[in-house]
Amino acid sequence: MKKFAKIDDIKHFLEEKRSAGQTIGFVPTMGALHPGHISLIERAVEETDVVVASIFVNPTQFNNPDDLKNYPRMPEADAAMLESAGTSVLFMPEVEEMYSTGFAEKPQVDLGDLEKVMEGAHRSGHFAGVVQVVSKLFDIVNPDRSYFGEKDYQQLAVIRRMTTQLRYRTAIIGCPTVREADGLAMSSRNLRLSPEERQAAAQINRTLHYIKQNFRTQPTESLLAEAATQLLSTNILHPEYLEIADAETLQSVRTNTYAQPVRVFAAVFCGAVRLIDNMGI
Ligand code: AMP
Repeated sequence: MKKFAKIDDIKHFLEEKRSAGQTIGFVPTMGALHPGHISLIERAVEETDVVVASIFVNPTQFNNPDDLKNYPRMPEADAAMLESAGTSVLFMPEVEEMYSTGFAEKPQVDLGDLEKVMEGAHRSGHFAGVVQVVSKLFDIVNPDRSYFGEKDYQQLAVIRRMTTQLRYRTAIIGCPTVREADGLAMSSRNLRLSPEERQAAAQINRTLHYIKQNFRTQPTESLLAEAATQLLSTNILHPEYLEIADAETLQSVRTNTYAQPVRVFAAVFCGAVRLIDNMGI
């Protein structure tokens, strides 16, 4: 696995691969890798010739300074995991390298209603930061195929919209959420949970299943209220939102006879750690 920290160096390396006719798969991450990330790498290894992973904790997508400060960092362990999964190239730039002209420069992308719901509504500026960094990374890597997890389903929708509007040539591949044995969606933030919180966190997935099972037979408002009570009864979980939404537009669905595909989404504080999850209904 080749490691790069400088934009010009990785660009030059990938240009040579591209002109030799090799396809490039790309998996952007913020590190503290787990099997969820590795599932994206494995898919990229199956489908492309040169697999590029990036590790960059992007300051512009954090709306909470403590979350940025406490975000787990373990570059050596990450590099070992990436290498054994078949990654060809690791790009790990410093903040100054990525933002040499400052944080202000932002691509013109209109996220429309996508930005006004759920993560967009609750994390001001978050998706603008995601678009900013992923477009920079796409400019550097110029991938054929880019892999994103459905764990961050709204982010996946944002990336798809950005890719269309900015006319990137990359295909965007959404990959299923990888879970722990008790159903908790794998997340780098799970490392910050105490044993007690970690145990309580499994209720998030159970509650999403409960909503899925009862969506067609119960009035939506009362089902969501009941689900919130389930979470709160742990005394550890505090839902920020629980939403049933159209799987494509991500706009709220309030009728259980809705005919288009729907998903259930949750953001839940587990102690001080904010966790998100979602599933198709
Ligand atoms: P992050 O490092 O959290 O920014 O995530 C990097 C990529 O891994 C994103 O596309 C995430 O959606 C994806 N990802 C994170 N957790 C999981 C998971 N449990 N299953 C599948 N993909 C995931």
